Amino acid sequence: MRHDMEFATPIPLHRARPPGSPETLALFGEQSLEAYRSGMQQCMDRVQRTLSRAQGPCSGVAPHELQPAFEAIDLDRPLNDLDASLEEVQRLYLDHAVYFHHPRYVAHLNCPITLPSILAEAIATPLNTAVETWDQSAGATLIEQKLIDWTAARVGLGEDADGVFTSGGTQSNLMALSIARDSACEAMPGHPGNRHHGLPPNYRQLRILTSEVSHFSVQKAAALLGLGYDAVITVPSDASKCMDIGALETELNECDEAGLIPFAIVATAGTTDFGSIDPIPAIAERCHQRGIWLHVDAAYGGGLLLSRRHRHWLAGIEQADSVSIDYHKTFFQPVSCSACLVRDRRQLRHITYHADYLNPRDQAEEGTPDLVNKSLQTTRRFDALKLWMTLRTLGAERLGDYLDEVIELAQQAYRAMRQRDDIEVLLPPALSTLVFRYRPDGVDDDSDLDTLNQQIRQTLSRRGEAVVAGTRVDGRFYLKFTLLNPMTRVEDLMALISDIVQVGEALVSSSRPPIVWSTPSC
Ligand SMILES: *Cc1c(COP(=O)(O)O)cnc(C)c1O
Repeated sequence: MRHDMEFATPIPLHRARPPGSPETLALFGEQSLEAYRSGMQQCMDRVQRTLSRAQGPCSGVAPHELQPAFEAIDLDRPLNDLDASLEEVQRLYLDHAVYFHHPRYVAHLNCPITLPSILAEAIATPLNTAVETWDQSAGATLIEQKLIDWTAARVGLGEDADGVFTSGGTQSNLMALSIARDSACEAMPGHPGNRHHGLPPNYRQLRILTSEVSHFSVQKAAALLGLGYDAVITVPSDASKCMDIGALETELNECDEAGLIPFAIVATAGTTDFGSIDPIPAIAERCHQRGIWLHVDAAYGGGLLLSRRHRHWLAGIEQADSVSIDYHKTFFQPVSCSACLVRDRRQLRHITYHADYLNPRDQAEEGTPDLVNKSLQTTRRFDALKLWMTLRTLGAERLGDYLDEVIELAQQAYRAMRQRDDIEVLLPPALSTLVFRYRPDGVDDDSDLDTLNQQIRQTLSRRGEAVVAGTRVDGRFYLKFTLLNPMTRVEDLMALISDIVQVGEALVSSSRPPIVWSTPSC
């Protein structure tokens, strides 16, 4: 029997099912465009209802309260109904979600996001474009590339710069340090390079220097790169939490004496807790003198590139060998949206792998722009469209102004908080964070203050009244405002401070006498 005869009249598969049947409507395509539209409408209605009745930035639900609802769900028994599954999502997620656009969400580096960027998701997600190769993405590749070129030009990296979108600052830092490590090892005499041969015999001497208040992803990257946390030398910072250049010199000299190989310095442009910006020009000078790779982690401070008032705070960033930028922080984009840039595009070869099925070498030689050639990821979301739509619809200046507004807000709040003698603010704000603690008269013991402030934070979040961050500085617990919402006013923050004090007062008076914060009680 001839097999090809059996299929002489091929039946288009989707016609085998009647249009409009549940099977065809379940998958996105021309036949389900109407269902897409009405489903989107239902989702939008839900979001609208949820947000308009929200009392605070979160519900305050605890894991043990939500967990039973999840235990009751059997994923092998579908609801077979959009309404029912949306109802379920409402209960399990929407009702308890944390709303970053709320003025009382002041915890982490989450921003309210631009409307055009959300609309971009409504386009890119149904098409499901994956940007790793030209043959999967076409214009999407060029959109991403143009944004990379634009960002690199804003940084001032020069003609040879390049880069790629990433999932976030963590991946950007890993990628940059991986390239820095491979570039340093490649230059070692007698070592043919890490890509084929793995690390050189003296890899235990490799060191990364970064300030003591830089992001933990530097340590993580060092471990993932086979170097270990111990390969990271944390340089002390000065009183304003910027890397101390004298201390950096000392560490570098000690490396020399110990025969260690400092191959990268990570300068932070906007530390996560303090917003402090390391002295990039002075660090760049040391890097230049010694042939050390300069990575600037501008995950937080990157938005200053667009600021009309404070762009100069990033002076020196143009001398970096690589830069991390989180568009999902100070460019007001949805998670994820981020980039890793390099000064010299040839350095990206360290992470290139040519796979015959996907991005063969000859395709690259012909000039096909396959973004996978310079990414740690293979299948990758078209996150660039969000930033593109934002820039084309609103413009970069608008984003820079938003950042300037939250910087101003932080300064106003700082001045107002300093008027109170029951609030101790650690430092004047550098970008848009404020690190402080409630310190009432009569509570002077540091560990009592730690407990008190921790309890304030928990109480506010448990009641769904505010989400405030907490952090430790020199071992002591502090509250932290991270301000990224240009819609928040200083009055909102002062009302929040009043609530913090009120909660604190109640906690103090309920424990009197005596004050026993440091002993666990129930
Ligand atoms: C947020 C942050 C990171 C990590 O970025 P993700 O996008 O969360 O992965 C790295 N460095 C700094 C300074 C940050 O603030």
